[in-house]
Amino acid sequence: MDKQTDFVLRSLEERNVQFVRLWFTDVLGFLKSVAIAPAELEGAFTEGLGFDGSSIEGFERGMESDMVAHPDASTFQILPWRKWPGGGNTARMFCDLRLPDGSPSYADPRYVLKRAMDKAAEMGFDFYIHPEIEFFLFNKDVVPGEPPVPIDNSGYFDHTVSSTGSDFRRTAIEMLEAMGISVEFSHHEVGPGQQEIDLRYADALSMADNIMTFRVVVKEVAELRGIRASFMPKPLSEAPGSGMHTHMSLFSGDDNAFYDATAEHQLSKTARRFIAGIMHHAEEISAVTNQWVNSYKRLVTGAEAPSFICWGRTNASALVRIPIYKPGKGSSARIELRSIDTAANPYLAYAMILHAGLAGIENEYDLLDEAEDDVWRLTDRERTAMGIRPLPRNLDEAIRFMETSDLALEALGEHVFEFFLRNKKAEFAQYRAQVTPFELERYLPVL
Ligand code: GLU
Ligand code: MG
Ligand code: MG
Repeated sequence: MDKQTDFVLRSLEERNVQFVRLWFTDVLGFLKSVAIAPAELEGAFTEGLGFDGSSIEGFERGMESDMVAHPDASTFQILPWRKWPGGGNTARMFCDLRLPDGSPSYADPRYVLKRAMDKAAEMGFDFYIHPEIEFFLFNKDVVPGEPPVPIDNSGYFDHTVSSTGSDFRRTAIEMLEAMGISVEFSHHEVGPGQQEIDLRYADALSMADNIMTFRVVVKEVAELRGIRASFMPKPLSEAPGSGMHTHMSLFSGDDNAFYDATAEHQLSKTARRFIAGIMHHAEEISAVTNQWVNSYKRLVTGAEAPSFICWGRTNASALVRIPIYKPGKGSSARIELRSIDTAANPYLAYAMILHAGLAGIENEYDLLDEAEDDVWRLTDRERTAMGIRPLPRNLDEAIRFMETSDLALEALGEHVFEFFLRNKKAEFAQYRAQVTPFELERYLPVL
């Protein structure tokens, strides 16, 4: 038993832990949880906890339905919102999923990301991330068929004295910090009721775990306050959607591999190739970074989200932006991917992005020129002449790109790749069969 495991077992009593929740994530990015008594934990560490994988989205595979969850002791945290009478605590740990023979489960999103990070490590890199997470706060009661009602009418960076939004953010941040998740910034976003909380950078695996925790914390705080938090990418037609702009860097040891003091914009060759990789494979990774029918309603022209594959420094319409950092701060050199949304499965999305970037480095892809103009204003013909392709315009287009992608197959592995495509095709087919209010309003009076 390693030191961390030992530490967790020893601290159970001291911290008055009454229950331990074991967490893992299904293929679509929904959190699964099973609670065990502290006395069972030692057994869970040594043998794992068996469960029926066939009942979990994306895990089923014929006869091999037994799966075993192995808690990762390094992720042990007390849940700050879950106090028992008498001061007892509930703790949680993320799990790695294995098959009964002890081999890693092909269906475990955490394993998909670990494989991608191993590939980066073989090339000499560690992958770091910091996300800007946007979400909406709505009134609890939603009238079916009506748009949700935001809790306020404030806008970008608005400061309102003791508003529900700022109180909400403060409580959420306190809980995140109590769970070891550092927050860098938070503010009101552009849309009514829309909030943003930015997490301090961490390695990609810790960050994916942090995002899963973040979603639970935000939903819990909303519940406590009698409102509803939503990570839906585009809940309101008239307001911008919720993205998860993702800042990324590769480190070689202590050195930021994206930084080169002598290069143009201080962007190293590695960074240029990484961006080129993301741009080259942008259509193929889209179904995973933007996985819902609704995700594509956010990626429309003018809604502050990217719709074309290009990069730039100050260009708000770019898919990849290079944030300007202070001179001498080479360690903070990074790139920002702006397409991904807050409702993606972070493990799978980071794995796909990393594979795309690494492919750019391996294959020495050239980077197109920077798009300095606002690419929304160009005509299709001008964009084509500049080599700027559109991002997939809906889930169906994204699925078609993914289906023929060797990169997606390699990144996800055959099982997740097949399940994901099957599931997303079914989602699009259901959506396509719907007659929407838009059609009824538009066509019924005239046709
Ligand atoms: N809400 C915008 C999006 O969907 C991002 C706004 C911003 O932070 O620049 O990507
Ligand atoms: Mg924002
Ligand atoms: Mg941003």
